[in-house]
Amino acid sequence: MTKGLVNRILPFSSVDGPGNRTAIFLQGCNFNCSYCHNPETISLCCNCGACVLECHYNALTTENSKVIWNKRLCKSCDKCLQVCKRNSSPKAIYMTVDEVISEVNKFRVFISGITVSGGECTLQAEFLVELFREAKKLGLTCFIDTNGSIPLWKNKALIDIMDMAMVDLKSYNPLEHKGLTGMDNNVIIENIKHLSKLNKLYEVRTVIVPEVLDNEYNVDMTSKLIASLNPDIRYKIIKYRPIGVRTYMIKSYTPSDKVMSNLRSLAVKNGCRNITLI
Ligand code: SF4
Ligand code: SF4
Repeated sequence: MTKGLVNRILPFSSVDGPGNRTAIFLQGCNFNCSYCHNPETISLCCNCGACVLECHYNALTTENSKVIWNKRLCKSCDKCLQVCKRNSSPKAIYMTVDEVISEVNKFRVFISGITVSGGECTLQAEFLVELFREAKKLGLTCFIDTNGSIPLWKNKALIDIMDMAMVDLKSYNPLEHKGLTGMDNNVIIENIKHLSKLNKLYEVRTVIVPEVLDNEYNVDMTSKLIASLNPDIRYKIIKYRPIGVRTYMIKSYTPSDKVMSNLRSLAVKNGCRNITLI
């Protein structure tokens, strides 16, 4: 059975799709955005052992050149994440679909679905398909939270089994997008259009990062795109916040409420009817 590399499972989340959901964060991302607030999910662990020396609770050991995490001893102090220079985590573990489902089942009566996030969850598409197949048997809806960089229209099995997607459009300007992520935004925009056509686009997100991104242009163009597809698709406009961010990589600050409110007005003017500011 396919295994997924899981960074962590959050039993309850009300911000990762509709209703109360279990959020499953997979390890590994093909982007390395300077404002990422989960940088420990970006890379795969190379078992260098640097974090083992820093764990004061003996929750990390090295066996056969592999770093092993002992969940029972871990105090979640996150010291290991702070010392990792690779943007990884020694706490990411390979799990079978059955193991993830057994975790999810503990919260089944309190949730309406699961959302798989990352890292970039579509890099582990085969695992997603198998996981969603089993989650559906429990009557759960299945969402993905994606950077949109993998052409979903080429993966019919995933598109068919998942319910909906939340897609980040980090910049509408292809050059700015490339500077931030290493690739332009063509595939992301095509994914947005494709998902919308199938009624599987739940939300598009833009993070407002003052003095780093051309925020007004991005909201202007993204809201026009959403309005042209379906004005009722949710457009979530998110304040950059320096929490958990590698602040040595980025010089920015949290935009004011006034700036956010002006951006909302712009999106409304362009025809969006379902806007959330956070
Ligand atoms: S999590 Fe980071 S510091 Fe720890 S072993 Fe892996 S790569 Fe090294
Ligand atoms: S989070 Fe857990 S594994 Fe990491 S340093 Fe703290 S106790 Fe050790």
